[in-house]
Amino acid sequence: MTQRQQPGCTGKKKYRTAAEADAMLGLIWSLCKPGRRLESRYYPCDHCGQWHLTSMPLAQAETEHAA
Ligand SMILES: [Zn+2]
Repeated sequence: MTQRQQPGCTGKKKYRTAAEADAMLGLIWSLCKPGRRLESRYYPCDHCGQWHLTSMPLAQAETEHAA
């Protein structure tokens, strides 16, 4: 029972720069069909210092982040 609270980014894909994340967003959108729930933006991560993609609306994400 040594497991502590895990960072929210565990298991998430990481991008070292915003440009990399942005390029991947563009790729996802170009490959996927409309109407599906896609990653809609990228954000800098407090835990690992890198970037992640999320499909979460901004307001919701900030609420979660404010803990
Ligand atoms: Zn992270």
